[in-house]
Amino acid sequence: MAQGLDAQNKLNAMHNINYTRRVTFFLSGLLIIFSQGNLNGQTLKSVKPVNHTYQIPQDYLREPDKIPAFWISTVDDVTKFLKQNVHKGHVEIIGTSAGGRPIRAVVYGIPRNGKGTTTFSGSLGFGDVRAYRGPDHDKIVYMGIAAVHGGEFEGIVGMVNLIAVLETGKDLRGKEWPDITAVAGKLNRIILIPIVNPDGRSRIPLRMEAYRDTDLTVAEYLNTGGKPDGKITGWPQIKEFIPMDLTLPGFPGGYPNDAGVNIQHDNFFGKRQPETQALFDLAERERPDLIINMHTGAVHMLMHRPFCEPVLYPVFDTLFRSVLTELTLSGLQDTKDPLIEADLGRSPMSVFNLDGALNLLCGALSVVVESPSHAFSGKGQSGKIAFQTPEMLLDAQLTCHQEAMKFLSLTGGRSKWTKNNQK
Ligand SMILES: [Zn+2]
Repeated sequence: MAQGLDAQNKLNAMHNINYTRRVTFFLSGLLIIFSQGNLNGQTLKSVKPVNHTYQIPQDYLREPDKIPAFWISTVDDVTKFLKQNVHKGHVEIIGTSAGGRPIRAVVYGIPRNGKGTTTFSGSLGFGDVRAYRGPDHDKIVYMGIAAVHGGEFEGIVGMVNLIAVLETGKDLRGKEWPDITAVAGKLNRIILIPIVNPDGRSRIPLRMEAYRDTDLTVAEYLNTGGKPDGKITGWPQIKEFIPMDLTLPGFPGGYPNDAGVNIQHDNFFGKRQPETQALFDLAERERPDLIINMHTGAVHMLMHRPFCEPVLYPVFDTLFRSVLTELTLSGLQDTKDPLIEADLGRSPMSVFNLDGALNLLCGALSVVVESPSHAFSGKGQSGKIAFQTPEMLLDAQLTCHQEAMKFLSLTGGRSKWTKNNQK
């Protein structure tokens, strides 16, 4: 979650659960990773000792009896899926995590050719973003990222299935998405990163969490961490300590990388984490128009207004209305009324975070989307429990990507969003 949960869920989060049985979970033992390679002309070397013992209540590591085949969410399963199924696109390692794990992107289409003549800030001062975006400024580039927080699986599953659609026309259930296939053909470039934070995702040894009705304690424990007795650290309290001390008792959750940093709130203008740097390098190279940053932590799927250049506010408004309207018409919101669900008042501005940083780096509109969770349900406006099946969660993921890509195709991207390309 990048923003948080509604008041009802936060009340649920206050419930204390005490478990006497615990499992001591040796994640890595003593592992020294030396990795050296040549990526995009850069020599990468990472040396990272990891020696942590995590204590998690045993019940927290329970999986459902039945996990749908389309629910591909672990680092190993995603890596295997990409290796076996990406043929039209290319798999590229864009960087190495703090813990020495490769970060993989899948790219489709032809990248922008050539470079601009100035920095992004310089182009704003000059009054024309084309000076930064270069000769291919009017090409349109879509980027999707997931699992900045390792305990938020829905975005990973969505991204894997989106890749399946781009490769075969069908998701892993066999459902066709003709609108995605059509709009993908109109975009010049698509870049998808199923797991930005493989350290955080690897810390949670589950493919799918057990469903726990309206109690979000376990989901939050696995995501944002907690004490050995099973109590959660809490959100947003977890953000008071970045980097966090991974050697403390309990479980640090899937938020941080192996350096203890939640990269949604990295030190963007200072010494950046390797995951952030990989995203920055990629964003500078590709100059995407639109970035969708998939998180989990809402009752129904919601898009957050980013802290970004004011010139992009009306662009976000249109994107928000497009995506939320389609989600509503698809039966994936609280009500069936788009006027209610696509009301801009639902999305107050976020604090400065990764998405604001990506915007100021390259001019992209970068937005967080918060998915409901497979592990617990929130309550809708009427107080009714908003249970969503894994199938509905996947539909919401793919609908969001579909509408975001349609929006990009119809509006023409950054070069067309601002009048005369002005700042
Ligand atoms: Zn998150």
